[in-house]
Amino acid sequence: MVKKLKQRILLSPPHLSGEEYNYVKEAFDSNWVAPAGPHLQRFEDDIASYVGSSGAVALQSGTSAIHLALKTLKVGEGDRVFCSTFTFAASANPIRYLGAEPVFIDSEPDTWNMSPQALARAFSASMTAGELPKAVIVVHLYGQPAKMDEIMAVCDAYHVPVIEDAAESLGSKYLNRHTGTFGKIGIFSFNGNKIITTSGGGMLVSDDPELLDETLYLATQAKQPALHYQHNEIGYNYRLSNVLAGIGRAQVKVLDERVNIRRAIHRTYAEAFADVPGISFMPEYQGSYASRWLTALVMESSDTPTSPERAVRYLAERQIEARPLWKPLHLQPVFADSLYYPHSPNVHVAERLFDKGLCLPSGSSLTIDEQTHVINCLKAYLKEESAREVI
Ligand SMILES: *Cc1c(COP(=O)(O)O)cnc(C)c1O
Repeated sequence: MVKKLKQRILLSPPHLSGEEYNYVKEAFDSNWVAPAGPHLQRFEDDIASYVGSSGAVALQSGTSAIHLALKTLKVGEGDRVFCSTFTFAASANPIRYLGAEPVFIDSEPDTWNMSPQALARAFSASMTAGELPKAVIVVHLYGQPAKMDEIMAVCDAYHVPVIEDAAESLGSKYLNRHTGTFGKIGIFSFNGNKIITTSGGGMLVSDDPELLDETLYLATQAKQPALHYQHNEIGYNYRLSNVLAGIGRAQVKVLDERVNIRRAIHRTYAEAFADVPGISFMPEYQGSYASRWLTALVMESSDTPTSPERAVRYLAERQIEARPLWKPLHLQPVFADSLYYPHSPNVHVAERLFDKGLCLPSGSSLTIDEQTHVINCLKAYLKEESAREVI
């Protein structure tokens, strides 16, 4: 019997620890209600030391962090930037903010992330055309690390810097190293749906002190040190608020616990569907430790002739928020003119994942009853679908 639910089960809602209010109160009591103040620096130190980078700059969003990452790497009008195709639009939009052109790189089956093979083909074609990219944006989707050793080897061979979009992978590791610390720059997001949140916010990390200084300078209106504010270039107003950094400090304290819970939620789903033919989950590639930000699966077998869209609708009618996997960016109308390199000439990995894939509610506040409801409903759906097929 499926229990009656009091409220809708969301994909990944904010999960407060209860300590946040104390930090916010401290900001209010000391009147640091500004995009400056003591919480900011402490929050930056917390994240930098957590991931093991030499410094960090707190910003208003993950998107603004990508924007400034590209800016500090001198990406401009007409430049090319390689980017994972299997991701959220925010990974690539900042390329266009700068008048540059994204070139999309397909996924590979082991991690569902950037294919080193496709990347190598894209590099060799760009080399021939005399148009090497200015940067490469690698995404660690749903918290699963990409194959960073192979990807770094390819990019290093061409001396092209890497930006890691680790918005979904705070807490994930590859070969015992945190995602976001392999490339020249890593970015994180603290949007309300991410693994920890400041309601909205982002962070840029790097081991390059000059690059961190440049980021801070650009994020605070590019003011030259002169009493009258001298401006030699265009700046941005991208600094995170000290109030929100306070929320972040409380959230960092429970980060490992949150990752453990998401991993446990994933394990429960995986066990529940272990015997269901045609269902497979996003793999955790050897040497990687995934945050399992969202549990992602594909439904493919002759027994389960299903579509993610129908599944999402079926679950929505039962108070469950599920989502198809990210639509590959090279299929998005806004990027229709962009170049795209598939995993191999006849194998399009991200497209197949999008055709068959589903994300399930995975928030760290998900209760056992709620998860049981999701599992029962998805099983009921798959059963109905296979019955439909027989008729
Ligand atoms: C959420 C997200 C972003 C953007 O982060 P915001 O803080 O919402 O701007 C970028 N890339 C990926 C993969 C994301 O999931």
